[in-house]
Amino acid sequence: MLLDRDGVLNAVCVDPEQGTVDSPLHPSQVKVYPWVPDALARLASLGYALAVVTNQPSSAKGKTTRKNLEDTHARVLELACAGGAVIRDSQICFHRSEDGCACRKPGTGMLEAAFAALGGSGTTKDDVWMVGDGVTDVEAGVRFGARTAFFGPRKCDACKIFESRDLVPDFWGKNLEAFVDFLEKRR
Ligand SMILES: [Mg+2]
Repeated sequence: MLLDRDGVLNAVCVDPEQGTVDSPLHPSQVKVYPWVPDALARLASLGYALAVVTNQPSSAKGKTTRKNLEDTHARVLELACAGGAVIRDSQICFHRSEDGCACRKPGTGMLEAAFAALGGSGTTKDDVWMVGDGVTDVEAGVRFGARTAFFGPRKCDACKIFESRDLVPDFWGKNLEAFVDFLEKRR
């Protein structure tokens, strides 16, 4: 299972003065959602191998250092895995969109790499979920050939984009906990 990070495992940071939303730029800003450690442990119990695939362009944009971003990621993993789950692979794209890399979502480079790292040969891409709270997560998942889970309200800007691009997430719900509820009921 391929998990986007910000907005899935941890909260994004809102700057009320600037009106901007950003990834945490320092470990001290990391707030993992309270339901995540348990939800990840339940996913592991269901037999899913877990990886994170995340775009983190802030150091390339000069907003923080690469070291801060790496430490921030380590802090997210530490808190998210407090329930005993193991995240076996992390793919982080540090580029900006204008860098034209193959890894940045909605490109599929990180998904391919994570799939391989999880030992993808034993499973088909159709067994893989790409889980995220952004249009680019769903887009990357569809391009890769995975099933897609999207967290967000049904009436939102993302919905209009989904419609215009003919994208339909396979699961649409509130958060990771709701998604795990769905997977458990499906069994
Ligand atoms: Mg996100």
